[in-house]
Amino acid sequence: MGAAVIDGKAFAAKVRGRVADHVARLKAETGITPGLAVVLVGEDPASEVYVRNKGKQTLEAGMASFEHKLDATTSEADLLALIARLNADPAVHGILVQLPLPGHLDSDLVINAIDPAKDVDGFHISNVGLLGTGQKAMVPCTPLGCLMLLRDLHGSLSGMEAVVIGRSNIVGKPMAQLLLGDSCTVTIAHSRTRDLPAVVRRADIVIAAVGRPEMVKGDWLKPGATVIDVGINRTRVESGKDRLVGDCDYASCAEVAGAITPVPGGVGPMTIACLLANTLTACCRANGQPEPE
Ligand code: NDP
Repeated sequence: MGAAVIDGKAFAAKVRGRVADHVARLKAETGITPGLAVVLVGEDPASEVYVRNKGKQTLEAGMASFEHKLDATTSEADLLALIARLNADPAVHGILVQLPLPGHLDSDLVINAIDPAKDVDGFHISNVGLLGTGQKAMVPCTPLGCLMLLRDLHGSLSGMEAVVIGRSNIVGKPMAQLLLGDSCTVTIAHSRTRDLPAVVRRADIVIAAVGRPEMVKGDWLKPGATVIDVGINRTRVESGKDRLVGDCDYASCAEVAGAITPVPGGVGPMTIACLLANTLTACCRANGQPEPE
């Protein structure tokens, strides 16, 4: 029996539809339009694609999109001045600084300069602290998207054994916090973990956020486990074209897992959908309006 395929693309379309409905109601009832500002420094081609997609989907959801493209040599002072202007701008409810930043810029300093109420990526230390203490936070979009898929599939996650592979601030750590918040028993694995296959074999839920193409194999899995593959890796195929693969070896994992996200079409689309949802939430909070579910 093959695993059920978790259709992140379809689920993300539903989330975006709910956001768009809520935005339309908000505009009709209050005249307020949620606004998202995206700041891109330099010309990283992958980042440019992400930023373009974010802008397009923001407009499709009925929100305002403000794109700020800065030269790769922009000084820290100029970038901080832009963030200060966006923090003060009442038309901007969400601010996202596309990472990675060029090496001469201190990402921590820049991210922590964003007003936490507008930090729709959830990377500001205030939001990290709020999430870690179980308080109302802006939650990082990729882990939030994974959690939505898991809740949709399982309903309650309480008591489930979850293994998160990867301990980055962007994915692994906030993912573990969210799963803990849903009462999973959580293990965080990383590059120094001993006997990773044995650790993964304990899991009812495996989250792979490693950045290594097809690393997790089917024979690492407990039969029936749910596999959420966050990885996005570009590999060159014989035709000379790039192919996207995840951190899990899809063919072997799909034979053993109960359910699995494909790459592409799994976690990826959920990330932007959650960004839009976070922007709407930030707008509602800023204006004392009821928040989306
Ligand atoms: P990072 O490189 O920041 O973190 C990778 C983590 O994987 C680290 O904690 C590292 O351990 C761990 N790791 C590396 N090698 C191994 C190994 N052999 N065994 C076990 N653990 C290992 O990556 P990110 O968290 O930013 O991203 C992870 C993946 O998710 C990437 O493919 C990225 O492209 C993708 N991604 C996808 C998104 C989406 O929208 N779908 C959004 C964000 C990321 P250590 O800490 O010990 O070095």
